[in-house]
Amino acid sequence: MKTIIEPFRIKSVEPLTMTTELERESFLKKANYNLFALKSDDVLIDMLTDSGTSAMSTKQWAGIQLGDESYAGSPSFYRFESALKELAPFKHIIPTHQGRAAEKILFSLVGGPGKVIPNNTHFDTTRANVEATTTEALDLVRQEGLDPRLEHPFKGNMDLARLRDLLETRTDDVPLVMLTITNNSGGGQPVSMENIRETKKLCEEFGKPLFLDACRFAENAYFIKLREPGYADKTPKAIVQEIFSYADGMTMSAKKDALVNMGGWLALNDDELAMSARNMLILTEGFPTYGGLSGRDLEAMAVGLEEVVEEDYLNYRIRSTEYLGNALDKLGIPIMKPVGGHAVYIDARAMLPHINPLNYPGQSLAIEMYRVGGIRACEIGTVMFGKQADGKEFPAAMDLVRMAIPRRVYTQSHIDYCIECLDLVNQKKASLTGLNITWEPPMLRHFTAHFNPL
Ligand SMILES: *Cc1c(COP(=O)(O)O)cnc(C)c1O
Repeated sequence: MKTIIEPFRIKSVEPLTMTTELERESFLKKANYNLFALKSDDVLIDMLTDSGTSAMSTKQWAGIQLGDESYAGSPSFYRFESALKELAPFKHIIPTHQGRAAEKILFSLVGGPGKVIPNNTHFDTTRANVEATTTEALDLVRQEGLDPRLEHPFKGNMDLARLRDLLETRTDDVPLVMLTITNNSGGGQPVSMENIRETKKLCEEFGKPLFLDACRFAENAYFIKLREPGYADKTPKAIVQEIFSYADGMTMSAKKDALVNMGGWLALNDDELAMSARNMLILTEGFPTYGGLSGRDLEAMAVGLEEVVEEDYLNYRIRSTEYLGNALDKLGIPIMKPVGGHAVYIDARAMLPHINPLNYPGQSLAIEMYRVGGIRACEIGTVMFGKQADGKEFPAAMDLVRMAIPRRVYTQSHIDYCIECLDLVNQKKASLTGLNITWEPPMLRHFTAHFNPL
């Protein structure tokens, strides 16, 4: 059989609330045209993020019942720790309430004025946490990663020449090197095993630790299996193990590839840094065997880590994202290619060339998708990245709209509905207008800014 089906059946259902276009127009006004401000009850298909939106399995829910809520030394912690060490055998595993808490702790310890942390592309919270310590957050993704329509199997790859240049010219300013797998801000594009290995080699040459921002490690591993010579016959788990063998530490949002709704961790090998991290953890998260989490959350993560490397799951996962991407491509909608792991990214700047990037074509498209079909997607472009710390605005490298696919949540007919909606939006694209920002906070403005359609 060639048909790939959802490798699960549904035991418990959540009703969706149907709304009319007229109702959605009023919800948009109330939300100041910021989709983050909508009530999720008013959203039909929520593709705002794949973060924390996974459906848990029966085994994970069973794990929730087994959660042990002891303050210290809970067996749930040890189950989580051993499930993680099976994939990523770091010496110190420090749970946090989500990924950014791990980032905050790590960068507070290694960052500081005059320092610089390179990454293929810093994710928005990562960048914000690096910059909050007055450290420079430098993106060094290879040139291919910046061309939204160029077909390349590993567009998340680090530009090794530029990394070498940085390590040579500013050796003492670099406390560590980061690599984000998959490259979220660059379109969910994977990093090849070769690039991870070569990045590690460079780090070793300059005596720098390599940390993975590993939120989508399993999706990245599956792309390696599909696309990199020599990996077709390896299991996703073996590929994941090889990936982590090159790293000295990781930050993780368990809301992605640990298949849970809340959680994260910092893992590392350095004893001294781990001790400082645990001290800090106690100030802001909690005792080191629970971090910011309940025992039941740790159980659910332990099971999620086993399920996420299952081949049937990853095959379905990567295929369903591709299904949406291929359909939009057939409609002539410009998308980022090849399709990434967790989302389809529409190139709003190419789709709406009549809208100036400083009037946010991505925001305009995302709003229209909600108005027409009740779909909530996320602008990743000039709203999110187009403002410097000194307040100056500039067009971001790209203006994308991300349709993130929650894990194990929507069926193929939900996706077919989205495709029909995009078809309608595409037919009226010439009538879409840009927006102005009427209010914004000093940082991370995309979450709360107010917009006014032109
Ligand atoms: C989600 C994400 C984070 C932050 O994790 P949270 O759990 O949302 O705090 C960091 N890096 C990447 C690449 C992410 O996708």
